[in-house]
Amino acid sequence: MDELNIAPLFPETGASSAREMYASLDGRFKGDLLRPGEWGYEDVRSVWNGMVSRSPRLIARCADVADVQLAVKMASATGILTAIRCGGHSLAGFSTCDGLVIDLSRMREVALDSDNRRARISGGCLLGSIDSATQQAGLVFPSGVVSHTGASGLILGGGTGWLTRRFGLSCDNVEGFTMVTADGSLVHCSESENPDLFWALRGGGGNFGVVTEFELRLHPLTSVVLGEGLVPEREIHRVLQFWREFMADAPFDLKWNIDLRLASQAKNVPVALRGRPVAGSSVLWTGDPEKGQPYIGHALSQCHPDSVRTRRMSFLELQTMADLSFPHGRRYYMKSGYFADFADSTIDCLVAATSEIPSPDTQIELAYLGAAAAQVPATETAFGDRSAPVIVNLLANWAEPALDAANISWVRQLFHKLRPAMKPGVYVNFMSADEQDRVPEAYHQRWERIVEVKSHYDPHNFFRLNQNIPPGTRGQTSFSDATDK
Ligand SMILES: Cc1cc2nc3c(=O)[nH]c(=O)nc-3n(C[C@H](O)[C@H](O)[C@H](O)COP(=O)(O)OP(=O)(O)OC[C@H]3O[C@@H](n4cnc5c(N)ncnc54)[C@H](O)[C@@H]3O)c2cc1C
Repeated sequence: MDELNIAPLFPETGASSAREMYASLDGRFKGDLLRPGEWGYEDVRSVWNGMVSRSPRLIARCADVADVQLAVKMASATGILTAIRCGGHSLAGFSTCDGLVIDLSRMREVALDSDNRRARISGGCLLGSIDSATQQAGLVFPSGVVSHTGASGLILGGGTGWLTRRFGLSCDNVEGFTMVTADGSLVHCSESENPDLFWALRGGGGNFGVVTEFELRLHPLTSVVLGEGLVPEREIHRVLQFWREFMADAPFDLKWNIDLRLASQAKNVPVALRGRPVAGSSVLWTGDPEKGQPYIGHALSQCHPDSVRTRRMSFLELQTMADLSFPHGRRYYMKSGYFADFADSTIDCLVAATSEIPSPDTQIELAYLGAAAAQVPATETAFGDRSAPVIVNLLANWAEPALDAANISWVRQLFHKLRPAMKPGVYVNFMSADEQDRVPEAYHQRWERIVEVKSHYDPHNFFRLNQNIPPGTRGQTSFSDATDK
């Protein structure tokens, strides 16, 4: 794998620091302290992306906030390389390392205040923990599309999903955070309290500290209508042009995602399409079902008629239907970018690349944001650009190490071709580990401000296993004209 250079390089992590850590935590730490070879260690060692394999010298699985404070304080003092883990779904593999892992998976409380449509969630929650608790009161929090994803990593980076057009990004629906800083102290932030930190945590990722509690705003919703269909290869270009025009004025209730991939060999796929390049359309309507029918019908009109189905489903079904498509332990690699003008030449490039996809589960994901997400001014949160409505994700997904080179090269080459037409900026949660040089681009005009907040809360860069914002680098990054294109 080394020649493909996808893993970040870290300094020697120190066996003696780990021993020191263990000794200082033992007897005071209420959660689990796991070392290599001990019972339970292997179960928690691995992370979602099978491309990333590390052997932490110590895993501190915290039972509560005091455990997090203790672990951070001790780790800061010893200087041991430390990863923070919620759901372990970082594509880049940032939630593990060969030093210390502070694991929050025992901290999954959701305290629901249904009268006020609010919830407080602990820092180890998965998206599924939130959905199942909030649906008991017919409420939703807008998050991501796979229920085994960690809420902390997703929200701190921004958070997009089925409800983004209707209710905004996940981070737009957070009203307060409680965070453990690098010296182990606890800080709270909201619109009125430590507003700079509140701004930075909405998009700035895990750079500032360990968030132990999020205060969420919820919305009423229990069911949706979903239409799905497959567009044959010869129609893909035309459908993408139509999607571009149609979504520009679409209602907030409509979310239309398109995946370019090779159709599976499954029985429900029309025989003529199996194994061929297709565009999979998923059209979601979150409002009054009757009002949505014309939109869904229109969007699916170019699909192969035998592939189309429309159904009403519960919100929980929607939120879990992709879970099996992205299992733990497979190999994943991704690059992503924004498009302001989704030009015909870009469409040509995507269509051509689809026929060269190296693995049946590898795909190009297209999402159209805009709507509620675009109504939040760019200066209000650290999250990147909201003005470019189209996000393109090149997501390679395969099982065999022998296919590493083919999948990674396919992503890199396609990205290289698309790059000149992209708008500067990238969503940090869709970045791989070999893209740290794109972090300033992700924050762009917000770079100076975010570096200042980082320098204040984490001046020694203790929290560095993330899309890292090095402290003290104000004024040191310039953006070239090429990047501004
Ligand atoms: C299958 C899958 C589906 C996805 N779907 C979506 C989607 O629909 N929408 C979307 O926006 N993104 C999606 N993502 C991307 C996802 O947002 C990121 O991978 C995110 O980082 C996952 O969060 P996590 O808590 O599981 O990750 P982890 O790997 O645990 O952590 C990710 C990063 O956050 C830091 N971190 C974790 N917990 C905390 C905390 N409590 N305090 C401070 N820092 C912390 C870690 O140190 C690390 O840097 C998906 C990813 C996967 C793998």
